[in-house]
Amino acid sequence: LGPTVCVGEILVEIVATTVGDGFLEAQPLVGPFASGAPAIFISQCGRLGGKAAMVGAVGDDDFGRVNTDRLKRDGVDISTIAIDPDYPTGSAFVRYRKDGSRDFVYNIATSAAARFGWSQTVGDLIDRSGHLHVMGSALSVPSAREVIDKAVDIVKARGGTLSVDPNIRKELKLDKDTERRFSKLVAAADLLLPSGEELERAAGVESEAEAIRRLFEIGVKEIVLKRGAEGATYFGRDGDRIDAPAFVVQEVDPTGAGDCFGGAYLTCRRLGMSPQQALTYASAAGARNVMVLGPMEGAGTRQELDAFIASTERRP
Ligand code: ADP
Repeated sequence: LGPTVCVGEILVEIVATTVGDGFLEAQPLVGPFASGAPAIFISQCGRLGGKAAMVGAVGDDDFGRVNTDRLKRDGVDISTIAIDPDYPTGSAFVRYRKDGSRDFVYNIATSAAARFGWSQTVGDLIDRSGHLHVMGSALSVPSAREVIDKAVDIVKARGGTLSVDPNIRKELKLDKDTERRFSKLVAAADLLLPSGEELERAAGVESEAEAIRRLFEIGVKEIVLKRGAEGATYFGRDGDRIDAPAFVVQEVDPTGAGDCFGGAYLTCRRLGMSPQQALTYASAAGARNVMVLGPMEGAGTRQELDAFIASTERRP
């Protein structure tokens, strides 16, 4: 089967090394780190040895090269990452607050990340891809959403599969058009990877049990719910449920855990593993990534994840 393709924003992340509120005073910073939820996801796919390709854009600058070099090293096909000659690579400055929440300064809307489109090379890739992964957040970027619309139809029409990470906070109000696109995307998903309350949000209902029932009713085939340090749960159409406890680790930087988790789960399933086995690798990938600073610095290879699983305890 063809490669897993992910479409969306590619950025660098620069992280304040002190904890506190915002950026109104000079801060010691560390970075740039390769980032962007779709890029983190595909990095983990590539690292695990799955065939993987990324569609997006960076500027013709060092921040762009941080990303393309990194993804290439991870084994990701980067031939469909456009190098925009006119706009810089997207960036996000992040500072953690005492309570674990984060303040951001973003440059995405006016960066290369929001300016890529369909091209012959992208079309050729989508024509041979076996799986498409979409982050709900990409639907608010007009260029990304055009590519996604087209790609979903092509991949599904030729028997490929689709995974969706809703990646949309419950309180975020979407405009009517984006809401409609989001619902369509969820209904077309073979695998849904929501985090916490995104599950109910994706189903448009209030309770977890009702959401699961509703999502299977509209055609979703497999759901994996991410619960941070509480672990994750697999739900199958046949009523199967598997709870995967989290590994016990010291959390340093939770950014990117869900994307690594998703990339690992999907890749393991595409490599033929059972949901149980895929959940173990995914939980390890998520846990390993929270132990280090930087959104994808902890993404692991098969060997690294095997070593981590063998040497790390899981919560009771
Ligand atoms: P998202 O980033 O999408 O909100 P989560 O924070 O739920 O996703 O993280 C995804 C997975 O990564 C979790 O289901 C869990 O397996 C693992 N994980 C996340 N945070 C931790 C943590 N502090 N300790 C151990 N595992 C974690």
